[in-house]
Amino acid sequence: MAKFAHLALVLAASTLMASSYQPEPVIPPAPTFQVSVLPDSTLKDVAIAVYHPEHPRIYVNPRLMKRLSPALQAFFLAHEYAHIDLRHTRASALRAPAASRNEALQEKELEADCLATRRLALDDPAAAQAAIRFFRRQGDSSYDAEHPTGTRRADNIAACLGAE
Ligand SMILES: [Zn+2]
Repeated sequence: MAKFAHLALVLAASTLMASSYQPEPVIPPAPTFQVSVLPDSTLKDVAIAVYHPEHPRIYVNPRLMKRLSPALQAFFLAHEYAHIDLRHTRASALRAPAASRNEALQEKELEADCLATRRLALDDPAAAQAAIRFFRRQGDSSYDAEHPTGTRRADNIAACLGAE
């Protein structure tokens, strides 16, 4: 009996949610959960985000991070937080057909760059500017096939900064 009462409550709640539908905000609200930022010197990346609904984590390679300017450090950290806030998982991109898999992964990188930029535009625009310079220097090369070229990332960040 208690089980059915609970089910009724869940149904009522989902009906309520469906009727109060609102369009997606441009900048999703900050997550209510705690993101753990953990050091990992074995990472080949500066940092990676691992989305989990309750225990999202960001791993940072302190050795690689220290080589970057404070402005770039702020950008890359904001980029990883953006992946988590956007609930990006590798699994969702890997569901794309093989031919468009890298493009799907690259799209997620651009989305994370854009959200990070829009957030930084408010209180640390120098970090976004530093990222534009960093990626312009990278030019037509990219970190790997899953990341867009430096030029594409720089153009995207500049557009996201201008849109604010
Ligand atoms: Zn990323």
